[in-house]
Amino acid sequence: KESRAKKFQQQHMDPDTSAISSGYCNQMMKRRNMTDGWCKPVNTFVHEPLPDVQAVCLQGNVVCKNGQPSCHQSSSRMHITDCRLRNGSKYPKCQYQTMQKEKSIIVACEGDPYVPVHFDASV
Ligand code: C5P
Repeated sequence: KESRAKKFQQQHMDPDTSAISSGYCNQMMKRRNMTDGWCKPVNTFVHEPLPDVQAVCLQGNVVCKNGQPSCHQSSSRMHITDCRLRNGSKYPKCQYQTMQKEKSIIVACEGDPYVPVHFDASV
């Protein structure tokens, strides 16, 4: 079984993309297997090097949306793409809005090494 850390990378890491087009989320949500069986409603991709995102686990400790204490907020803003399912879009035709942002990210971390396993929010 795939580790939670690998799944985080599959769902949220895209360090090397230079130009983001309006079809980015439609393509990427499918390519990264988030449109299998349903349309995942919201998903964020991070366009920063993996070590920089892993380092967020050593940055400011915050409470996660679900109340767990294991979340961390990046001290700098990061380049991200926010993908949101368009109103009225129905499986299997998952249609997403692609929004580029520069925001601080909040991730949950676990394990040894202590690495990101869940994307909580961007703020
Ligand atoms: O906030 P909620 O629990 O509904 O989020 C469900 C999932 O959506 C998260 O586990 C995460 O994978 C994704 N998400 C995201 N970016 C956000 C909010 C949620 O990728 N800003």
